[in-house]
Amino acid sequence: MHDKALVLFSGGQDSATCLAWALERYARVETIGFDYGQRHGVELECRTRFLAKLRESFAQWAAKLADDHLLDLSVLGRVSDTALTTAKAIEYERNGLPNTFVPGRNIMFFTLAAAVAYRRGIPVLVGGMCETDYSGYPDCRDDTLKSLQVTLGLGLDTRMVIETPLMWVDKAGTWAMAQGLGGHALLELIKEETHTCYLGDRSTRHAWGYGCGKCPACELRAKGYARYEEELAP
Ligand code: ZN
Repeated sequence: MHDKALVLFSGGQDSATCLAWALERYARVETIGFDYGQRHGVELECRTRFLAKLRESFAQWAAKLADDHLLDLSVLGRVSDTALTTAKAIEYERNGLPNTFVPGRNIMFFTLAAAVAYRRGIPVLVGGMCETDYSGYPDCRDDTLKSLQVTLGLGLDTRMVIETPLMWVDKAGTWAMAQGLGGHALLELIKEETHTCYLGDRSTRHAWGYGCGKCPACELRAKGYARYEEELAP
């Protein structure tokens, strides 16, 4: 029975929306996060606060929200030299990928999540990856994750389903999905307590939340929110 799910929850907008999505669908939901020396370590603080406030403000979900797992993945910072794990300027590489790309990150995340899920009898993994307005990260692609689902299922000799509710949803649609799942209260919680900015800047509060307002992640979040307000907000 697919009544339990493990959500890859980073503390960002997308995975927070996926967490609400999972809480609407499954009887018991656990969360997993990874500390890999991301330079916006502020994301990990947001993650703890978001979980606490979600429990406080949404009684119907608090009862289903179970254990949180935070794994030390500092090895990822040691094997990759990217703008997400070291203090260097965000720019585009010759292959068209931004230098925030941490090679194999999602493959490693899902593999570790599957190991935890296996041990805990959870058959569903949920992640906020998206092909719609993503940075071209190849490990966010639907095909990558579908093939990983098959690999994990074979390697663990058990059915392991990877759900990616945002795969074909753009950023405006992600805001609309949050509104649909938890109304104004969830939208406000996502604005206040999730983090997207690559620079870890939380000094300015915009209509869409905190961030520098200029990095690619902030731009995407801001544009999506503006379009949500114009076209999709109730
Ligand atoms: Zn930013």
